[in-house]
Amino acid sequence: MDDKNVLGDMTLLAVMLAVAAALLVWRMLARIQQQKRALLSIQKRLTQAQQIAHLGSWDWNIATDEWCWSEQAYHIFGFAQQFDGSRAAILRAIDPDDRAHVEECLQLALENPDSCYVVQYRVVRPDGTVRVVVERIEVTCNVARQPTHMMGVVQDVTERKRVEQQLLLFDHVFKQSSEGIVLTNANREIVEINESFSRITGYSREEALGQNPCLIKLEEHNRDCYAQMWQQVEQQGVWSGEMWDQHKNGTLYSKALSITMVKNGQGRVSHYIGIFSDISHNKQIEQQLQRMAFYDELTGLPNRTLCKDRLNQEIKVAHRREEQLAVLFLDLDHFKYVNDTLGHSSGDLLLLEAARRIQRCVRESDTIARLGGDEFMVLLTGVVSIEMVERVAVAIIQALSEKIVLQGQEVTIGVSIGISLYPDNGGTYDELTKNADVAMYRAKEAGRNTFMFFTRELQEIMVARLTLERELRRAIQREDFELYYQPKVDLRSGQIVGMEALLRWQHEAGHMVMPAEFIPLAEETGLILPLGEWVLRQACRQAVVWRQAGHLALRMAVNLSAKQFDQADIATLIESILDETGLPPEALELEVTESMVMKDADRAVVTLRRLRALGVHIAVDDFGTGYSSLSYLKKLPLQTLKIDRSFVRDLGHDSDDEAIVSAIISMAGTMEMRVVAEGVETVEQLEFLRRDGCDEAQGFLFSRPVPADQFELLLQKGGYPFLRRAGNDLNQHAVWRLQ
Ligand code: C2E
Ligand code: CA
Ligand code: CA
Repeated sequence: MDDKNVLGDMTLLAVMLAVAAALLVWRMLARIQQQKRALLSIQKRLTQAQQIAHLGSWDWNIATDEWCWSEQAYHIFGFAQQFDGSRAAILRAIDPDDRAHVEECLQLALENPDSCYVVQYRVVRPDGTVRVVVERIEVTCNVARQPTHMMGVVQDVTERKRVEQQLLLFDHVFKQSSEGIVLTNANREIVEINESFSRITGYSREEALGQNPCLIKLEEHNRDCYAQMWQQVEQQGVWSGEMWDQHKNGTLYSKALSITMVKNGQGRVSHYIGIFSDISHNKQIEQQLQRMAFYDELTGLPNRTLCKDRLNQEIKVAHRREEQLAVLFLDLDHFKYVNDTLGHSSGDLLLLEAARRIQRCVRESDTIARLGGDEFMVLLTGVVSIEMVERVAVAIIQALSEKIVLQGQEVTIGVSIGISLYPDNGGTYDELTKNADVAMYRAKEAGRNTFMFFTRELQEIMVARLTLERELRRAIQREDFELYYQPKVDLRSGQIVGMEALLRWQHEAGHMVMPAEFIPLAEETGLILPLGEWVLRQACRQAVVWRQAGHLALRMAVNLSAKQFDQADIATLIESILDETGLPPEALELEVTESMVMKDADRAVVTLRRLRALGVHIAVDDFGTGYSSLSYLKKLPLQTLKIDRSFVRDLGHDSDDEAIVSAIISMAGTMEMRVVAEGVETVEQLEFLRRDGCDEAQGFLFSRPVPADQFELLLQKGGYPFLRRAGNDLNQHAVWRLQ
């Protein structure tokens, strides 16, 4: 073999080997490179995956105390990448409240390798933000079962926890809401309800799930209502309103409901939410308010407002059917007496009993109303005859005149009824009630406990009254009035000691109108107030004139009406009139009647004290006609009693009246009050009064009421000196009478 060739061959082989080796190395390098790239890619994907999952991992080589952290783990803890890690540093990053717990877990994991531990704790990042993490820890061992590595996978669950907490809160709201909440799917099948739903509807969760939300059997009108409701939900996405529903136990209740449609991401309906509350209670209050507006609280009967409404309706019906209606206006007799003496609770019981008894006398279809106080109204429909109305009136009178026992006390009342008929006595509520009222007053005047129809005659009386009222107003404007004066004579001295001012109306037509004809109307209409003021002023002026003429001992008496007396500022008015006219207060006497004082005794005492404080005298007029006891009057600041004319009239004929007059005189004496006898017309009456020691007298025997100029003549005459003489010789009186 040629050496050269051998060498050549060997060189070729070496080159080939080198090339092969280089190729191998290159391929190996390429593979390594490829694997490295794959690894990097895996690592990159892992990092990405960890990022997405908020998942980090770490590895702790226990022997070398080396820590290896994934990128995401750095991020979760907020550590810088160059953080080398140490157990102490890691523990420092944990919320102090959770630290002990984490340490305990790590320790347990070391002691029990092969087990897996999961711990949740809060991390406080260097920038102060707090993250909630869940960590899974595992320890691996060598063959000698010595722990070599600890690995942790840590997940940031802050966001999930927040959502969880929010869900918990929503769940709480859902469960605790006092409103019923129902959730349905798109097919309107219930998928969830809360406890209030069960409480309000009576259906349990088990009963409700899968059902349609209207569990109740629907009535016809409700079905329409539901259809409309769903239509609006579909069109507008929401509906809210009130509707009736039925509890499982069958009772109906009223609810306020709102329904909202919920759509998913694709815009398709996924759920409906219904929220409702039971508003039956509100409805009850509403109804109660309505009752209060239209019904009388005490008796439960319709009140004036509802009564008016019903009558107006009945008028329409009666008009259409050409029928008659009857309006009965009832006023209980003596109710005030019971109320005052037995108290308000007895008064209430009495009204209740009266209402019950009236109810028994009429048909169900008739209306009974309480107009206020002791006034009732009965409305009879379909009246076919007067007799029928009369029968009802008689039955009511009978029912109410039977004894009533009130809290153990037996009382008897009565009723006065006035009746008006539609269409004869009026076509409106106002006309019919006014006329029934007029008839009722007539019934009262006719002696109570009776009924009276409204008649032509009453109509005429009413017209006359209206005319009179109009004329009276005019007369007040024109001051068509005059005061007459009647002397009061001292029965011991025969002197005129005072006079009573009595009002006269000089009608523009020429005739004189007496007070009895217009004072009651003036009272009713309130015209008495301006009129009474005029009288007071005029009387005071006249009294001053006579005082200036030298008659200093005279006292001017003026009648006060009930309305005037009830005026809050009557004392102020009188004080200013005294100031204005310059009349000394003690020269004025005010006459008030017993009934005015007794009507509201407490108030009267106050008024009387204020008047008395001014210095004016006060006399009780028409004494003996009321119910007051002398002992009660004793407490009042009164100076004079005027014995009513009715007792004086029968002196010498009626021994009862004589006894009463004697008693009044003697008792007044002990009470240190002066006694004046009114209406003394005869010598016999005068003698009786003188004998019994009556202080003063007033009457036609001495003088009728006369105009001021004529009264001056009486004063000039020097009174009735005859009375000064001793003895009671009738002949002497006869002589005096002739004077
Ligand atoms: P009264 O206060 O009881 O007045 C006495 C009435 O008896 C007067 O009637 C008087 O004329 C009448 N009279 C006096 N002596 C006799 C007599 O011997 N026999 C008879 N049969 N009657 C006698 P007059 O003036 O018609 O007044 C009637 C009532 O009108 C008065 O009764 C009084 O209540 C009221 N009145 C009169 N003037 C006024 C006034 O200015 N204001 C108020 N509020 N009422 C007045
Ligand atoms: Ca009088
Ligand atoms: Ca009188």
